[in-house]
Amino acid sequence: MNEPRQDVIAAVKHFLEQGTKLLLIDGQWKPSSSKQTIPVLNPATESVLAEVALADRCDVDLAVAAAKRAYEDPNWTDMDPHQRGLYLIKIADLVEQNAEELALLDTLDEGMPFSDSLAMVKDVVKTFRYYAGWPARVHGFTNASPGAIFSYTNREPLGVCGAIIPWNAPFIMAAWKIAPVIAFGNTVVLKPSELTPLSALRLGELILESGLPRGVVNILPGTGAEAGAALVAHHDIAKIAFTGSTAVGKSILSSASSTLKKVSLELGGKSPNIIFEDADLDQAIQVAVKAFTFNTGQGCVLGTRIFIQESVYNEVSQRIIAQVKQLKVGSGVENDTDIGPITNINQFNKVQGYFKIAQEQGATLEVGGETYGDKGYFIKPTVFTNVSNDSRLAQEEIFGPVAVLIPFSDEKEVIQKANDTNYGLGAGIWTRNLSTAHRVAKALNAGTVWINTYLEVDPIAPFGGYKQSGMGRELGQDSMLEYTQVKTVLIRL
Ligand code: NAP
Ligand code: MG
Repeated sequence: MNEPRQDVIAAVKHFLEQGTKLLLIDGQWKPSSSKQTIPVLNPATESVLAEVALADRCDVDLAVAAAKRAYEDPNWTDMDPHQRGLYLIKIADLVEQNAEELALLDTLDEGMPFSDSLAMVKDVVKTFRYYAGWPARVHGFTNASPGAIFSYTNREPLGVCGAIIPWNAPFIMAAWKIAPVIAFGNTVVLKPSELTPLSALRLGELILESGLPRGVVNILPGTGAEAGAALVAHHDIAKIAFTGSTAVGKSILSSASSTLKKVSLELGGKSPNIIFEDADLDQAIQVAVKAFTFNTGQGCVLGTRIFIQESVYNEVSQRIIAQVKQLKVGSGVENDTDIGPITNINQFNKVQGYFKIAQEQGATLEVGGETYGDKGYFIKPTVFTNVSNDSRLAQEEIFGPVAVLIPFSDEKEVIQKANDTNYGLGAGIWTRNLSTAHRVAKALNAGTVWINTYLEVDPIAPFGGYKQSGMGRELGQDSMLEYTQVKTVLIRL
């Protein structure tokens, strides 16, 4: 299904009209202390979708206090793990029942084509169901000890977590933060980006409907400078889970050092997607195009540096360019849209800035390189060639639908070039040769390597970055390590 149904449109309209001016604190919707609100825009039309409450430091204090009370309440601490799992299943069910409404909210707010938003909501359902299996599986070890000693470990929750998420793909970002918090017995104050807070607020309603104890999940749209910084500085927060830019991630890490919070960071990327001459070229080309244009290029893990082996460079580059020319730019609610708008005006301007940089550095513009239409933040999908791997165009995260095509002669050269970046989030390899695939996968410095596919993410597998793409991992068993701490108990018998 590509276009939202009328009843879904009506449900979203109802949601937007009734209650977005409130913050979720302690199981209740409350106005912000300052009563300040901020308009949330539809990037396809530049019209105001809703007014949303803007949390400040006082609201953060209230929410952290509520999360602390919830964390210390035996009702939560001593809850049967099976019951904790049931809450996650209930939330997954509620998200599934309201999938189209949630998808439409992200499409209107963030810009993503409706069919892509819907696929992301399905991933959110999977994420909550995946974590529903964890509470009853958290376990420690019995340590080897001499006869008179009995010693074991427990994995215990951390306490109140602060979660800070960016404006791209906001619904799945919220789910990746909230689901493990619940699974491992923590509580959370989530700060969505004030630019795209709507699906997180609707998720807050569904979490209340699930009956989860009050205060376990608190949701506060606010700015990074005010609400975000207040979370990072707060004494009663044990961990900050942050997704966003590398620059802000670094500043959060340094601010968090004064209270020695645990910090996990999911940051930017400039991921290589490598096409060898023996690849299934039809598949490689089709996926490579999706892998840099998905969500209008606003994805941390997208394959924006496409390396093509010289022997097939002409054919592959021409076919990539031809396919990009076919992509339809438009509003995410239209049936045939491939590329929605950029989410906000700052990012819209930033992407255009890179077109200027490309010109200055003498890159060849093959397709795109300009805006589209006269309303909304639309940018045509863009491909550059004649780009050196050490240029700004090839090294900096643009966060728009922009790829560079770079030829390479052999495996050694492409590994060197692929790794020659400060980032290390994702990488793609296209080959039919099993040995090449494994050798290159091992050699690449990236948290996720895809072989003969790209962009597939499953909550069973850990996700995160090498180098300046992050610290720590989300999803998979690794997230248990991120959201729990180890206690050793030693008994002299
Ligand atoms: P951003 O500017 O770093 O902001 C991310 C979040 O941090 C926002 O909620 C922001 O609030 C908040 N923030 C800003 N300054 C802060 C501070 N001093 N203290 C605490 N919080 C602060 O990133 P963005 O522009 O929203 O998102 C795009 C970036 O996210 C890209 O670099 C992308 O690669 C990265 N990203 C990474 C992943 C991943 O999993 N690795 C996934 C998605 C996106 P405001 O809204 O007020 O700025
Ligand atoms: Mg918006």
